[in-house]
Amino acid sequence: MKKLLLLLCTVMGAMLLSCKRPAVFSGEEKALICRGTAQTPFRVLKITNTQDAIILRTPCSDIENFANDSTLALLIARLKTTLAAENGVGIAAPQAGVLRNIFLFMRLDLPGEPVVVAINPRITSHPDTTVCFVRDGCLSIPGVGGNSIRYPWVEVEYYNEKGELFRERLEGYSRQDTFTAVIFQHEYDHTRGILFIDKLCR
Ligand SMILES: [Zn+2]
Repeated sequence: MKKLLLLLCTVMGAMLLSCKRPAVFSGEEKALICRGTAQTPFRVLKITNTQDAIILRTPCSDIENFANDSTLALLIARLKTTLAAENGVGIAAPQAGVLRNIFLFMRLDLPGEPVVVAINPRITSHPDTTVCFVRDGCLSIPGVGGNSIRYPWVEVEYYNEKGELFRERLEGYSRQDTFTAVIFQHEYDHTRGILFIDKLCR
């Protein structure tokens, strides 16, 4: 009986091990993210640096099985610290050297203008017409501003760090009013290796 119990425990233990959660981030990504605490800003990659430019131009991949992952929580916290230090309204993970589909964007359209995380974001719908957004800019392109072609609104999907799915329509493309729709498009482009200087208009 004892032997049978032992065997049962061994088999169940092996099953549990094989069901272990797969790693959310690679060892290299984990090393980069865990190099600082929540209060440590990332170095923001710049297009003027050749190595940085290659990373900024690389399309990112989705994050799998991420709900409540501690490395993800640290990545988000460090991105928030970086965004505050740089006085920005949005930042995408590739700007910190992490080639994953995740970014922060400021909800200028909501009271208190909270900074919201978007994981595995998608643009699911947009109008046929575009607008010329005045004075776009980017933390990775210092000292350069320009007008960019944008959709006036976008319907989007994204997850938060708990794995909850959000579906909503974002509006606003005016410097005077709000430009939440533009921030989302700008950051979403980053995850695809696209920069605002690729979309200039007069
Ligand atoms: Zn940018």
